Amino acid sequence: MIVDLRSDTVTRPSAGMRRAMAEAELGDDVFGDDPSVNRLQARAAEMLGFEQALLFPSGTQSNLAALMSHCARGDEYLVGQEAHSYRFEAGGGAVLGSIQPQPLANRADGTLELAEVEAAIKPDDPHFARTRLLALENTIGGRVLQRSYLEKALELAKRRNLATHLDGARIFNASVKLGIGAQELCAGFDSVSVCLSKGLGAPAGTLLLANADLIGKARRARKILGGAMRQAGMLAAAGLYALENNVERLAEDHANAERLANGLRESGYEVEGPHTNMVFVRIAPKKIPSLKMQFEKKQILVLPGARLRLVTHLDVDAAGIERALDAFRALTKEA
Ligand SMILES: *Cc1c(COP(=O)(O)O)cnc(C)c1O
Repeated sequence: MIVDLRSDTVTRPSAGMRRAMAEAELGDDVFGDDPSVNRLQARAAEMLGFEQALLFPSGTQSNLAALMSHCARGDEYLVGQEAHSYRFEAGGGAVLGSIQPQPLANRADGTLELAEVEAAIKPDDPHFARTRLLALENTIGGRVLQRSYLEKALELAKRRNLATHLDGARIFNASVKLGIGAQELCAGFDSVSVCLSKGLGAPAGTLLLANADLIGKARRARKILGGAMRQAGMLAAAGLYALENNVERLAEDHANAERLANGLRESGYEVEGPHTNMVFVRIAPKKIPSLKMQFEKKQILVLPGARLRLVTHLDVDAAGIERALDAFRALTKEA
């Protein structure tokens, strides 16, 4: 069995999830009559405390549709340098939305300094883009933003008339880690994006949550972006199965990440985390070339780098973590 620690996106649908997909009642979601999609959207809206939800093929598209729904051409959004929607989505907001990002440094705990956020809001003056939106991410690099911080950020946004978007790709990891309902962690945001294809184990799919007005705009953006799907109920059935079966068990992934971090520390590695289901480990540059090849021989998959990110998920168990630790121990022993 391969132990794949590259990402929590690598999970394969379980037998139960595949059965749910095979048996899904289907319609044409572009006409709005796929019952499985409608059921998933209704369930997610209820679970997360929003008026409506909309299914997207990917989190990248959901974030972009949200940006395009909040911001018009020449508007600006405030976002962390490390945020997925700024750094890892090919600049989509600028490319396709004519929206200017204003990136700000993330602190070590993943938060933005709120005084810096406020200072970055541009005055109403034709020299400047119009600052419209504050975008946060939870978890970010596995780190959890606390509810108390979110409340301060939301208060600032409200006071300064900014809309708010939360990239909650892994919001359920934050919720399980804190022991706080996802609904409470999302409360106050104008929109939230939640991935079904990360730790929740669905093959694809992300939900955008917001009020009916914003979801109407996002539906139009989704059409522009080519994301309106037909018998999408096959994916929705996987998503529903994930929401019903794979949320509480995220605690196991966090426990495995802790096992991994402890084992690596005991073997002398410099480790950051665990942050929910992620562990970051320093690898001496001279070891990097051989690392991937050696690990592949032992059927351990990682994305090699000097700051190696290891991600636990529902296709890695405690025995798999032990095997990965053996591989890391062997790496320290060689010259
Ligand atoms: C994975 C991820 C996304 C994008 O999801 P895709 O489905 O890969 O496009 C967005 N935000 C965060 C924080 C993510 O981890």
